[in-house]
Amino acid sequence: MTNNFNQPLGGNDMPRFAGIASMFRLPVHQSAKGLDIALVGVPLDIGTSNRSGTRFGPREIRAESVLVRPYGMATKAAPFDSFQIADIGDVAINPYDLKKSIGLIEDHYQQILAHNAKPVSMGGDHTITLPILRQIAKKHGPVALVHVDAHTDINDTMFGEKIAHGTIFRRAIEEGLVDPHKMIQIGPRATGYTAEDFDWAADQGVQVVTGEDCWYKSLAPLMDSFRDTVGGEMPTYLSFDIDGLDPSVAPGTGTPEPGGLSSSQGLEVIRGCHGLNLVGADLVEVSPPYDTSGNTSLLAANLIFEMLCSMPGCIRRN
Ligand code: MN
Ligand code: MN
Repeated sequence: MTNNFNQPLGGNDMPRFAGIASMFRLPVHQSAKGLDIALVGVPLDIGTSNRSGTRFGPREIRAESVLVRPYGMATKAAPFDSFQIADIGDVAINPYDLKKSIGLIEDHYQQILAHNAKPVSMGGDHTITLPILRQIAKKHGPVALVHVDAHTDINDTMFGEKIAHGTIFRRAIEEGLVDPHKMIQIGPRATGYTAEDFDWAADQGVQVVTGEDCWYKSLAPLMDSFRDTVGGEMPTYLSFDIDGLDPSVAPGTGTPEPGGLSSSQGLEVIRGCHGLNLVGADLVEVSPPYDTSGNTSLLAANLIFEMLCSMPGCIRRN
């Protein structure tokens, strides 16, 4: 294939375990200038409520991404023939101050979006999605949202704080960053503080599909129906918390819950976003210290590849 787009360094040119571990072995750029899609890390873990360690997420996802090859064999998708993509490194968060870090993330994404690049982000804990959505909504207006997670992340406060990894979607809805009638939460489950914990989102118009609702079935029809609801024009954001998947396939995370999605159901959700007008995506909550095999980071890297494949305009080589 001849084009002028950045290509991943091939596994027959340099062994996959060698060389510089940039995301998908792509070139590293200093900014999002000239890019269609910017891969960016946000190494934050001071918004977490249980196990920490997501500050190491971007680095480990990059390390495991060396195994990802350029073509999707089932979808025939060819993202590196379709878009100019590069790894633009990490946001320099302040590891001592969550509120300042939120501001630093907002500034960083404002610059990415000013270059008209779409951010595809590696967390970091889920707190990062709020400042990203603020900038996305500033550019595009309120977005439709696909949210995969074991949790609804709609607490009003945590330890009295308005901003933490479990409050962000309440803030996003309150701030008008998201259209709740075009928002779906897939995978909430396990235990809560009250039996009504999931109700606030549903009361706002969000479609809440619990973990149990997903058991033993393909999620392709669910995504077909969500695409019918949203259409192919409305700017849409995908936020994928790795703990939406079952801890048996994604143990490396801070707040794991049993009864989660399989890796194939995770693929179905992301592949089901093809046809939506995706304007950005993130993969959050990978905590490498709890990922002794590296498989959670490897899965995360593959899910991020699938996000690229679902971006509007991605060529399929049938
Ligand atoms: Mn979350
Ligand atoms: Mn979660």
